[in-house]
Amino acid sequence: KASVFEDIKAAPADVIFALTASYAADTYDKKVNLGVGAYRTEEGKPWVLPVVKKADHILVDDNNLDHEYLPILGQKAFREASAKLILGANSKALAEGRVGAAQCISGTGAVYTGAHFLSKHYPIKGAACYISKPTWANHRAIFEGVGIPVLEYPYWDPATKGLDLKGMLGAMQSAANGSIFLLHPCAHNPTGVDPTPDQWRQIADVMEAKGHFTFFDCAYQGFASGSLDKDAYSVRYFVERGFELFVAQSFSKNFGLYSERAGNLTVVAKTPEIKNRIESQIAKAQRAVISNPPAYGSRIVSTVLTNEKLYKEWEQNLSTMANRIIHMRKALFDELTRLQTPGKWNHIVDQIGMFSFTGLTTPQVKVLKEKYHVYLTDNGRISMAGLNSKNVKYFAQAVDYVVRNH
Ligand code: PLP
Repeated sequence: KASVFEDIKAAPADVIFALTASYAADTYDKKVNLGVGAYRTEEGKPWVLPVVKKADHILVDDNNLDHEYLPILGQKAFREASAKLILGANSKALAEGRVGAAQCISGTGAVYTGAHFLSKHYPIKGAACYISKPTWANHRAIFEGVGIPVLEYPYWDPATKGLDLKGMLGAMQSAANGSIFLLHPCAHNPTGVDPTPDQWRQIADVMEAKGHFTFFDCAYQGFASGSLDKDAYSVRYFVERGFELFVAQSFSKNFGLYSERAGNLTVVAKTPEIKNRIESQIAKAQRAVISNPPAYGSRIVSTVLTNEKLYKEWEQNLSTMANRIIHMRKALFDELTRLQTPGKWNHIVDQIGMFSFTGLTTPQVKVLKEKYHVYLTDNGRISMAGLNSKNVKYFAQAVDYVVRNH
């Protein structure tokens, strides 16, 4: 008998996960994985943050913990600590009681939850969500998945290998009033290019004048510069100016909790009463998708965020990760300079966060993979965390070869 699903078409594999699988299957001893956005140590290994290990032990020894359901919107201590982390302890919006929060399935779930809410309750029907060109591939998938039309605003300027501010502001100006704009507050993925404070001011001016809605997706707070405050600058600036906004927060990178799916959607509303109504709708929707979020990752995060000593230690762990990445940027830049690789490479050190948009072309990426067993996405993005003092020379030589010959 024919299957009910006889006509189903196979979906394409996820590019990043497929890349990791081909890397794993490669038996060459000098292979390098610069695809996946996960931190690696100098030895190329995953890192369980020492502060997370401590929190682990605290949780294991806590006889008051059980495995009961969390509330639909998640663990209260985690939600409050997450909102405070991104908005700052002295946030006026927090003091005024107009900040809501929902614990979600990590950053992805937080973006989804916010997008889903907007698809049901955003007052301008048919409003589009503008995403940066380029951006994290899931942004388009998530917003289109909830039925919100997706358009792009210029972001990356290939000529300067920096921000196309003019193009970005121009798109904001010509978008229909009240459009939704998805912004990366720090460590833009995939380009590693962030606006400066003055550029954020110009962006906020246009967002305000046009009545656009701001949706921040914050996956790298503390991981970009090593400073939690510095990386939250744009969000806090927008909140100070009185914007109503959403912030999706991920604790995958800054806690190294990739598989625990700890995330939060912070909602800044105009009044406490509106905040309550938004939260109630998010709770209603969340009930029908995940019922309630998982506890473990959020317990680790809230244990650290609510303990002064552990918080300090976490900041040190963050510096360790951020500094190693900044150091690898410098090492790669120095190697390319030493080899006199054609072209300008200062963007490698100017960019920030996990990724660097190298400017390498898709054919060059292909040669890197086939000849050198170096794995990176076709758009030339490299995860800086995949570099270390043992493979950076090899990688620089490979780049030098493809730039000269392809
Ligand atoms: N948003 C951006 C821009 C990201 O780069 C990532 C991770 O790569 C995420 C969100 C979400 O990550 P997760 O769902 O693992 O927390």
